[in-house]
Amino acid sequence: MQRRRSIEQDLDVALDREQFILHYQPKLNARTGAVGGMEALIRWRHPEKGFMSPGEFIPIAERSRQIVPIGEWSLFEACRRTKAWHDAGLPKAKVAVNLSTIQLREKSLVESVKWILDATDLDPACLELEITESAAMRDVDETVRLFKRLADLGLSLSIDDFGTGYSSLSYLKRFPVKRIKIDRAFIIDIGADPNSGAIARAVTTLGHSFGMEITAEGVETQEQLDFLLDIGCDEIQGYLFSRPLSGDDFAKFLGAADTGRPAVAAIHRRQSQIEVDLAG
Ligand code: C2E
Ligand code: CA
Ligand code: CA
Repeated sequence: MQRRRSIEQDLDVALDREQFILHYQPKLNARTGAVGGMEALIRWRHPEKGFMSPGEFIPIAERSRQIVPIGEWSLFEACRRTKAWHDAGLPKAKVAVNLSTIQLREKSLVESVKWILDATDLDPACLELEITESAAMRDVDETVRLFKRLADLGLSLSIDDFGTGYSSLSYLKRFPVKRIKIDRAFIIDIGADPNSGAIARAVTTLGHSFGMEITAEGVETQEQLDFLLDIGCDEIQGYLFSRPLSGDDFAKFLGAADTGRPAVAAIHRRQSQIEVDLAG
């Protein structure tokens, strides 16, 4: 309880003090081996506690709703940096950004995403939003409406951590989603537990029959990769190819340097614009 309170307090200033950074994990096309995209993953450089993983602070930020500005920062920064890489002449890799269930229920979500795409000038076709299966299934009708509005912006949507939510598969085809990410829990057990392999195979077959692409996350071994290639999985993400990299390392990886402006300044400008609008 005490630790949670102290993290909450520290989170209050973390954004302004620029303590967050994004790392980027490459996602490889299973057939060609090309880097088709990357997932942006937030890290917190805590002044005393050192690097803190999102698994620790995101749930706290969700309870306190601090995730709303933090998530907006992640999205802005990921779009800004990706656009900078595109402008530097790199292949048009697509960036995937995680959205919290709290952000999904924010009335202003679609407007915020639209603002960020406009402000960073990123091609919407190069943005993918990852929403967990359990968040998407909370209120299916509402999710379908929201996803349609987001897809209308020209971006694409994917269902994250798929297989853990025990949802009815028939709901899946109602969502305008391009991609399903098979949860790491099923990938880890490939080879050891025949059920996990069977689930990965079934999800891949079903997803393909709905016209969706399948990403396997947490791929660590050659044995897992061979199995996933065999069942026709489209995209691979995991330590076997690369851990999440700092922006600079990812840029080197793609052969480019960062030239863009920091996201925090832009968020401040927008906040003051909102205040001006409210005052007017
Ligand atoms: P996730 O969306 O399921 O992200 C994948 C996690 O698996 C990442 O952990 C990644 O580093 C890790 N991973 C990737 N490949 C492997 C592998 O081969 N083996 C193993 N053992 N792990 C692998 P990370 O970066 O600690 O992120 C944890 C979670 O925090 C993410 O899970 C996501 O739910 C959340 N998160 C991260 N960044 C953001 C963000 O900007 N916004 C929101 N709302 N959530 C975020
Ligand atoms: Ca994810
Ligand atoms: Ca995941």
